Amino acid sequence: MPSDSDGDAHERLDRKKRKVQKSAEDDSVKYKPYIKAGYSRAYTDNSTNAEFPVFVESSEPEIKLGNKNPLVVSKYFKQVKGIYESRRINANKIMLVFKQATAANDFLKHECLTVYNLRAFIPASSVERVGVVRFIPKESSNHELFNKLSSECEIIGVRRFMKKVVDDVVPLSTISVIFAGTTLPQYIYLDNWRYKVYTYIPPLMQCFKCMRFNHYGKICKNIQVCSRCAGEHHYKACTADTLKCSNCGGAHLAISKTCPIKAARLEKNKQSYAKVIEINSVNFPTLPKPQQIQQKFHQSKLDTQENLDISYSNIINNKKILSAIINTLVTIGNSNDIKSTSKIKEAFLKHLNKV
Ligand SMILES: [Zn+2]
Ligand SMILES: [Zn+2]
Ligand SMILES: [Zn+2]
Repeated sequence: MPSDSDGDAHERLDRKKRKVQKSAEDDSVKYKPYIKAGYSRAYTDNSTNAEFPVFVESSEPEIKLGNKNPLVVSKYFKQVKGIYESRRINANKIMLVFKQATAANDFLKHECLTVYNLRAFIPASSVERVGVVRFIPKESSNHELFNKLSSECEIIGVRRFMKKVVDDVVPLSTISVIFAGTTLPQYIYLDNWRYKVYTYIPPLMQCFKCMRFNHYGKICKNIQVCSRCAGEHHYKACTADTLKCSNCGGAHLAISKTCPIKAARLEKNKQSYAKVIEINSVNFPTLPKPQQIQQKFHQSKLDTQENLDISYSNIINNKKILSAIINTLVTIGNSNDIKSTSKIKEAFLKHLNKV
């Protein structure tokens, strides 16, 4: 029978164990990516997008919707209203393009999805932007940060970057923030501190089976390549003395950042992502197609004489528009609070109506 002190020691040990377990649990909750309650991706009614894409894939992973006969796939969506065009994205995925936000949103709940066992979702890049913020105190949980952070764009989610250290996962002071809309705010605020928001560049995908890029090993059909010697075996079975990269033939690991091919891929990844952000950040309404302008042009003949001189080719020669643009730039230059595209647009429209 254990003595009293032994019993105490056991109890203390148990309590300590429970405490360690509890804090690990706390951490997994604390640093779990937080997404606004009840949030699901949808297009907003006031969206100025020219098209509203929706991705569709099969709910069963072995069925490749993108490889099916388009005529067969079209039949699935016979009852769906407002499809403007369909596109194949890859073996698994197709994209349906709608011209109306509501038609795209309605499609997400369409019964054909249940009937044919399909999953439909709005691509993140169409309705969200992800920013990175540095030097955020590690004490705060993602949920707390979500409640305390503020910016000119609506915040949808907060995720803290974590790093694996031996068997532990430790929090870093960098977080990523998901914003609603297609513009990234310049700054975000936390407890009266202003932080710069950087564009999030997703990591470059490199396959651990064939060492090539932009796909994962799980779906890779290529033969196994050793990341150390480029031979046809797993790197754990490698007996080679010298390194040889399977992508460029150089004397380094195939996963090394010093590989010129990988470096070029990383740079391309960065640039193409920055380009997407730049294009989508322009929040002004898209220009109508030439046919629509023609129609408008004829209609306006019937309306007022003033509308006649607004068309594609002579917008810049139009004194009214040019003066509105110049006045808007002057207003922005003189103002401290016109920072968002919506504010600039507001100022521009105000000047346009004045002249
Ligand atoms: Zn591969
Ligand atoms: Zn090898
Ligand atoms: Zn290389």
